[in-house]
Parts: sequence; C-alpha cells; structure tokens
Amino acid sequence: MSIYLDNAATTQLDREVFDEMTPYLLTNFGNPSSLHSHGRTVKKAIENARRTVADLLKASPNEIIFTSGGTEADNTAILSSVRSHGIKHVITTPFEHHAVLHLLEVLASNGEIKLSYIKVDESGNLNLNYLDDLLRLHKGRSLVSVMHANNEIGNLNNIELIGEICASRGALFHSDTVQTIGHYRHNLDNLKLHFLAASAHKFHGPKGVGFLYCRSGIQLSQLLHGGSQERKLRAGTENIHGIIGLAKALEIAYRDIDAHHFYVQNLKNRMIAKLREHISDVQFNGNSFVADKSLYTVLSVSLPAFDVGGSLLNYFDQNNISVSGGSACSSGSSSHVLSALGADPSRDTVRFSFSKYNTEAEIDYTVEKLAELYKAVAA
Ligand code: PLP
Repeated sequence: MSIYLDNAATTQLDREVFDEMTPYLLTNFGNPSSLHSHGRTVKKAIENARRTVADLLKASPNEIIFTSGGTEADNTAILSSVRSHGIKHVITTPFEHHAVLHLLEVLASNGEIKLSYIKVDESGNLNLNYLDDLLRLHKGRSLVSVMHANNEIGNLNNIELIGEICASRGALFHSDTVQTIGHYRHNLDNLKLHFLAASAHKFHGPKGVGFLYCRSGIQLSQLLHGGSQERKLRAGTENIHGIIGLAKALEIAYRDIDAHHFYVQNLKNRMIAKLREHISDVQFNGNSFVADKSLYTVLSVSLPAFDVGGSLLNYFDQNNISVSGGSACSSGSSSHVLSALGADPSRDTVRFSFSKYNTEAEIDYTVEKLAELYKAVAA
C-alpha cells in the first residue's frame, strides 16, 4: 500500500483535468498572441477559462490574471501595492507562507516598507483589535496581507472580518488563499479584499499555474516585462494547457464542493479519533482539531519526540506513507509557523493533509503504523 497524505504540499491531478488539458498540448498548440486561426482558437480558450474562474468566484474576467502559481500572485499583489499605491507600511502575520514573508522581509530590510505583525495567541488566533490599532495609529495607507488558511497548521482566518476592518480604515487587503481556493466558496462580490492569490496544484489542477485576483480599479505593476500578454500585466507566452487545467479543476472543485468537504472532513475526524484512541500523549497544533476554525484538509499533530533511529518522517516514508513534518527548533528544517506558535521544540510535528483520493482504510493503516512504533519504543 502506498499512501499519500501530503495534499497541502500538492494534490494529484484529476483525470478529468488531464483529459481537458491534452488537446492543448497536442492539437491546439498555437500561440494565443498569433492572429491566425491557430492563435485565435487558443486565445478564445484562455478567455473562456478566465470567464469560468471569474464566474465561480463571482468576480469579473478582467479581475483575473493568470500567473505561474501562488508565489507569483502573492509577489505581484505586494509589489503592486508598494510600487503603484505608495504603500510604506505592511501588516502581516508570522504564519504567512514564505511567498509573502520573504518578500516582505526583503522590502523591509531595503527600507521600502515598515513591517508590522499582528499579535497571535498560542493557538494561532489573530488579535484583530491589535490589527485595528495598528491601522488606526499609522498615518497613511497600509497594506494588510493575511492568508485565508495556514498551510502547516490549517488555521482558518476570518477574512470577511479582516476585510471589514481594512475597509473601515482605508487599507488595501491581500489574502493568500492558496490553501482554500477550490475547497471553500469565495464570493468576491461580498469579500472586501483587493487581491487574492491562488494555485491550481492545490485543488487537483496542474503545477506551475495560478492566478491573481485584482479588484477592478486597483492598479497593478508588472513583475515581468516583455510581451503584452494578460493585458500587459504579465508578460510571457501563456501556459495554455495549465490555464485550461486550472479552470477545469476549479469547475470540478465547485461542482463537488459540498460532497468533498463532507468526505474529507470525515477522514480528518476519523484520524483525530483514532490518534486519541491509540496514542496517549497526542496533541494538535493551532486550531487543527477545531472543525470550523481549521482547514478540513489539514491535521497538524504534535507527538513526543523519541529516537526512532531516524526521523518520524523517515519512519512513515519507510512504510510508504508520505506526510510532512516540522519542528519549532531553530535548526535545519525548523518551521517558522510552529516557532511563532511557541510550540514545544522537544516535540515532533507531523502534518497529515487529505484529499478526495484518500480512504478510511488509509487513515486506519497510518494510525496503526504510528501506534506500532509507539508500542515498540515503549517496550
Ligand atoms: N501560499 C501558500 C499558503 C502555499 O501553501 C503555497 C504552496 O505551498 C504557496 C503560497 C506557493 O504557491 P506555488 O507553489 O503555486 O507558488
């Protein structure tokens, strides 16, 4: 048995998505910038894909810019805020993905922005009164960059409320929604945000493609200079099959969203229950075990560290179970998220992340293997 429980890292491509993509690799191979029929066919397909994405998110097609993934979308949103909107103060969280944090750290160390962090508690909940204070006390417009859900511990942030706070203080709001697009419904008609970043490979689409949502009327500055693709906002020949795959993956995700949520949440609940039953000192990081406060696709588990003749991840790997790890220590592969939570550095963290392709039998087998290890060590 080979088990894949690392769906927050990436997901398996859906067969339906693959089938939709292949004609754009083999037959419809034209360059969308070409004026002849080969080019026009592909150009039309891209615009259809853009409309599909926009309709699903209740946005308008001119608000969707296809990118190479979540990282580029995050970078474009932040750099546009600084370069086109004169932003000199950015407020974020210590839990953001490196696609946000590393860029902000560079901008801060260059002296281009002042960087503030929202205070958090030991479960990773954001102190939104503090956010409001930061906005109130800063003279001039700020950018707030807060992810919708954290990829390591799964905490969900209230982007509706954060959007309201930003709107009341005249701030720009960017949300990295890479872990939630395709798993939750986003209604951009109601959400008070200016930018949003998404990546297809997190919802059973292809890798190397994503999109940036940029609200109408909000100016973007180009990251890449060159051709006039994406209305001169993102130069470079489009990743046609990727864009087609992204739109199809999102369509499927929305078609099946409730069933998917129910199915995957059950897998997560089952794992929580089994872990509690079989592992005496099991704990969960952040809000990982609270259903409405965390991603139903992610469970971050804290376990007492012990010498297993290699890492816990290796043990899983040797048993053909693919998971991710992390620790709060300050060496090697330490996690900035667990460190910011103040997690006990003497414990190990395993992130299990689930998808529609996982089964109950896989959950049971994984916990069984972990329980076996604990028994062996205790003996
Ligand atoms: N933001 C979050 C929350 C992520 O989980 C990831 C990917 O792991 C990214 C951004 C980067 O996305 P991409 O790999 O498409 O560049």
